[in-house]
Amino acid sequence: MKRVAISACLLGNKCRYDASDNKNEELLQMLKEDTLIAFCPEDFAFGSPRPTMDLVWTKEGISAISNETKEDVSKPIVVYANNFFDKHQDIDLLIGKDRSPSCGVCSAKLYNEQKELLSTRESGLMVKEAKKRGVACVDAEEFIRIF
Ligand code: SF4
Repeated sequence: MKRVAISACLLGNKCRYDASDNKNEELLQMLKEDTLIAFCPEDFAFGSPRPTMDLVWTKEGISAISNETKEDVSKPIVVYANNFFDKHQDIDLLIGKDRSPSCGVCSAKLYNEQKELLSTRESGLMVKEAKKRGVACVDAEEFIRIF
């Protein structure tokens, strides 16, 4: 039995930007023997529904920029991530929602400040904190494909 940190929207929590979910029955079936620890930094920080955000390469590095206000909204996501990983130090694996600017593992889009696409293989801000701590991370679609 593994302890798996997982994007809450994959479990069926209605915490996406439009207050919908990404429930993935196939994934949940594969994880039914494991202990699942849900996280959603964006719902915690901004509630649901909320404006969307994108990862942008800025002078300060890679930031989450609100598509509505154009403000840098990275800080509460990073604070949430650090609190989460401080509290859960025994995680065996993190499964993130593909393409999310917070939870994507190797699938988030990165733009420059002119909104030109630089990469489709970036990690979201929550996942970056996990990787700094040596937590193994995988996108949900990749997990299903491999296992
Ligand atoms: S991808 Fe991450 S931040 Fe977005 S709704 Fe799912 S858990 Fe929340």
